[in-house]
Amino acid sequence: FNVNTPVNEPVKDYAPGSAERIALEAKLKALSAEKIEIPLIINGEAVKTGNLKDCTMPHDHQHVIGFYHAAGTDETKAAIDACLTAQKEWAAMPWQHRVAIFLKAAELVSTKYRALLNAATMLTQSKNAFQAEIDSTCELTDFLRFNAKYVAEIYSEQPNSTKDTWNRLEYRPLDGFVYAITPFNFTAIAGNLPTAPAMLGNCVIWKPSSTTVYSNYIFMQILIEAGLPKGVINFVPGNSAEITDVCTSHSSLAGIHFTGSTAVFQSLWRSVSENIHQYKSYPRLVGETGGKDYIFADASANIDALAVAMVRGSFEFQGQKCSAASRAYLPKSIAAAVLDRAKTMISELKMGDVANFENFVNAVIDAKAYKKIVSYIEDAQQSEDAEIIAGGTYDDSVGYFIAPTLILAKKPDYVSMREEIFGPVLTVYVYEDEARAETLESLNDVSDYALTGAIFAEDRKVIVELEQLLSQTAGNFYINDKPTGAVVGQQPFGGGRASGTNDKAGSKLNLYRWISARTIKETY
Ligand code: GLU
Repeated sequence: FNVNTPVNEPVKDYAPGSAERIALEAKLKALSAEKIEIPLIINGEAVKTGNLKDCTMPHDHQHVIGFYHAAGTDETKAAIDACLTAQKEWAAMPWQHRVAIFLKAAELVSTKYRALLNAATMLTQSKNAFQAEIDSTCELTDFLRFNAKYVAEIYSEQPNSTKDTWNRLEYRPLDGFVYAITPFNFTAIAGNLPTAPAMLGNCVIWKPSSTTVYSNYIFMQILIEAGLPKGVINFVPGNSAEITDVCTSHSSLAGIHFTGSTAVFQSLWRSVSENIHQYKSYPRLVGETGGKDYIFADASANIDALAVAMVRGSFEFQGQKCSAASRAYLPKSIAAAVLDRAKTMISELKMGDVANFENFVNAVIDAKAYKKIVSYIEDAQQSEDAEIIAGGTYDDSVGYFIAPTLILAKKPDYVSMREEIFGPVLTVYVYEDEARAETLESLNDVSDYALTGAIFAEDRKVIVELEQLLSQTAGNFYINDKPTGAVVGQQPFGGGRASGTNDKAGSKLNLYRWISARTIKETY
């Protein structure tokens, strides 16, 4: 069994009249006209609780396109039992056969279900076609295929033996179940968090984000079609607090795979610490959380490239990426030219419904996100320490629309230079060229996060200096590029400090967390 080095799934361009465009438009129409019913999947069976919640669309929030059954305590307990029952056979299955299921799922995502999964992602996460393609097709299939290759590599890694001893590492899964709590912003991440531990023989409770149950359920069905045995991944949407309480107080909790907010990840650590006396083994806690991602420009920066990075890095995906640039530091000597260029680009961005492929900006995910993002814009409208220099408008009458907004901060510690906003807002601080050292200190000090960061400089000495100086400020560090868009197999993704455990999604570093190896020594 040979898992070849995969090629990243090519991104289709959805040119008008292309086959992929026609198929996608048909799916968008069909899904918009339907109202699907989504059950839980426990032990391979559809379970209906009757506790129904609507699936709506962020760009048209009164439009219900489906409803899901929400799990409670009893269903979560049943799902854990299903995991523990399925675990023995799943762990014992030759790993090549386990991996084959996920490779088949990748194939189904990239062919038969490409249009369906992209359409569902567009409608329920308010992404344009290109963003959905990058997320729910390309990144999702990349995660599955590259992880398959890494699993093969890990299983082949063995210690030395000698002439009279035979030493082996047996890569067992964790002793218990893994709880995967997945975010709204990427179908790919939602798919990766349960499947990565499962490839290594673990059984998983998958709690999808309540806003994206729809697209996540489609992927769950694809896994089943690809042959996932019952009980290996159990799909349990519902109230987070209730489901988390059951999972974290269970003696067989063996790991948590999380992407979401820092506050929720910290509360998971607290629940685990409160229950620590009763677990069979120490749960592995793997999380990717918030960011306050930066762009720092030197006076030697290429102005055009910098302006493009500011606009794409901050406003693509409505800024709803953990990696999105949300603060920029520009030296005074080039700031006016950069800001002019960025403002012109922003004025050309089209915003609106996902069905119009010309729209670059769509809606933010829900009312809660909308209110939070707008509160930072309002603060900038009122504060003496800030000024809005582009965008600044918002309207939630039909969908949760917020125009890409540039805030100019007069102080490097103004609130939107410090706090994560998770929306289409970039705050810029212009520093005196001579005050570079203090500005770098402030960059390091004003935020606890360390997810992504980008520097712009053409001067190689400056590049070396900044790379060293900023070594703790970002798990993904970019030189002369936007701080977003990490590609599986090329830039393993994750950050430290308050941004997570830095276990690098889509890499071996992550997969090692889902195994508990046994060392076996035999003496002849
Ligand atoms: N991996 C994505 C990127 O590099 C971001 C993931 C996230 O938002 O959590 O842009």
